[in-house]
Amino acid sequence: MTEETAATEHEQPEAQQNETPAAPETPETTETTDVVVIGGGVAGLIAARSSARAGLRVILIESSETLGGFVATQTVAGIRVDSGAESFATRGGLLRQNPADPKAQLGPVAQLIADLGIEDRIVSPNVTGAWLQLPDGAAPLPKLTILGIPGAPLATDVRRIIGWGGALRAQLDRYQPLLRVRPETDLGGIVRRRMGKRVLDRLVTPIVAGVHSAHPDLVDVHAVLPGLTTAMTRQGSLSGAVLSLIEERGSTAAAGSAVAGLSGGMFTLIEALAADCERYGVEFRMGRSVAAVALAAAPDPETTGLAGDDSGAEAGPGPLRWRTTLAPHTADAGEDAREDATEAGAEATPVAIDSRAVVVATSFRSGLALLAELGVDTGRVSDWPEPASVDLASIVIDDARLDIAPRGTGVLVAPGVPGVRAKALTHATSKWPWLAEAAGAGRHVLRLSYDRAADAPEGDTVTQTEALADAGTLLGLTLDEAAVAGFAVTRWNDSLAFATVGHRARVERLLAQTAEIDPSLAVVGAWVAGTGLAATIAQAGQATRVLTRAVTAA
Ligand SMILES: Cc1cc2nc3c(=O)[nH]c(=O)nc-3n(C[C@H](O)[C@H](O)[C@H](O)COP(=O)(O)OP(=O)(O)OC[C@H]3O[C@@H](n4cnc5c(N)ncnc54)[C@H](O)[C@@H]3O)c2cc1C
Repeated sequence: MTEETAATEHEQPEAQQNETPAAPETPETTETTDVVVIGGGVAGLIAARSSARAGLRVILIESSETLGGFVATQTVAGIRVDSGAESFATRGGLLRQNPADPKAQLGPVAQLIADLGIEDRIVSPNVTGAWLQLPDGAAPLPKLTILGIPGAPLATDVRRIIGWGGALRAQLDRYQPLLRVRPETDLGGIVRRRMGKRVLDRLVTPIVAGVHSAHPDLVDVHAVLPGLTTAMTRQGSLSGAVLSLIEERGSTAAAGSAVAGLSGGMFTLIEALAADCERYGVEFRMGRSVAAVALAAAPDPETTGLAGDDSGAEAGPGPLRWRTTLAPHTADAGEDAREDATEAGAEATPVAIDSRAVVVATSFRSGLALLAELGVDTGRVSDWPEPASVDLASIVIDDARLDIAPRGTGVLVAPGVPGVRAKALTHATSKWPWLAEAAGAGRHVLRLSYDRAADAPEGDTVTQTEALADAGTLLGLTLDEAAVAGFAVTRWNDSLAFATVGHRARVERLLAQTAEIDPSLAVVGAWVAGTGLAATIAQAGQATRVLTRAVTAA
């Protein structure tokens, strides 16, 4: 029976897709604070929380009506599901405190979760692991692999996918002397040279394309597998390096289990962060886009209301160096915000906020535009990777045949599978026991992701019929449209393939320039940290510590 089949679209606001709106010429209202944080994704929330915990007054400006950015939620057929990020990488430290070794460090996400007091929500995915759909059939992802690179090329589960020929070619990696790791950094080149084309095409490419939205030839090994090339030098082979990284991570479990989630969904992290921000007094300005940030030429007590002068401005650490100008409410702000603003007479009133520090925590294109305005040489837009757009379809379906999880926790799709446009399917109720419990017996949540051309027309989105057909093919079943209890599509724009070769160097050049402008300016977020919550959370914390030290020292 169809309870709810209307496709809902949840789009990011225009400001996140395009450049920042033009700055209004003369702001009419000016307020002051210590730190302005631009962007309310996970990076912005961390920056706001850390600054507020350091005793600074913080205003966070977010162009949409909800916090979280790519960490988002929606309710489909009465079940609350993540409509963006749904897990986090567990590398870089422990997932839970080890009482036998209290000095052992937690990973960055686990540390944040512990600080927020929600560590009891941490859950591990079902260990059955995921499958791989190839043009000629499906097979479980081999166990001893990292991003599809086999640690044991002759293992049965690897041979099932690449055959004896491919396995023997891959095993040559063990016998070819590795005199030194070449300077090349593209993952595809390394895998092809050491293990051959079959490993690359049938194992590594589908996984890298699914996880990083790019072909391995374009992906920087240092960004996606930090430590791999060092381990290759140490171990003398690629497969040896993979095994040593698996051992370091302390995981020989099924592929895909190097992640964890939160019971109730990843969005509960955003809720906990936002609640903590409020506790520390962070002020939120929702539905407002920042149009420009400018640095005052020299702090002038007469005009800036410098702390400690007698102009009536509140005292605080350091001068009010920065002016952040908000765009007037525009069509991208929610209806409620526009109505509130109109009632308050604020519709046409540009607002400026003067502050001692600014954190740019936006997505990629807004961030580049704001920094370019500050005189940072951001290079040509064409030098940066092409932004990826992803449509994420969620299907809630009543079908007890799915109880046995025919494809484990989901399926990654290799290029060239006939008749399937989805690049990955997550059987979410099989992956996360908490979700299976929330859904109830016989009801399942399936999540399919689709790459979408950045310039595809708005209406051009995946339909319920198409998503259901893809899900059926990938799960090896014919799924019945009448069994669908709910369907929704979320469109994500501007989610870059940040792991591409050359990206790190461009980001480092950009950060070096911003550091020269002033230590009271920080740039945080996935586009500078590298895709994924673990990298983003670690970088946002680190950059904000530097900024708050500079501001409080002043
Ligand atoms: C579909 C999808 C699934 C993902 N799944 C996972 C996963 O399972 N695990 C994982 O680790 N990672 C995942 N990621 C990546 C991860 O979600 C991101 O790396 C991370 O959430 C980025 O956070 P951020 O704060 O840097 O940026 P964002 O989340 O992009 O936040 C930036 C915020 O800035 C706001 N903004 C932009 N411009 C302006 C402006 N001018 N003024 C005011 N506000 C502005 C935006 O509205 C947005 O809220 C996924 C990403 C996508 C798209």
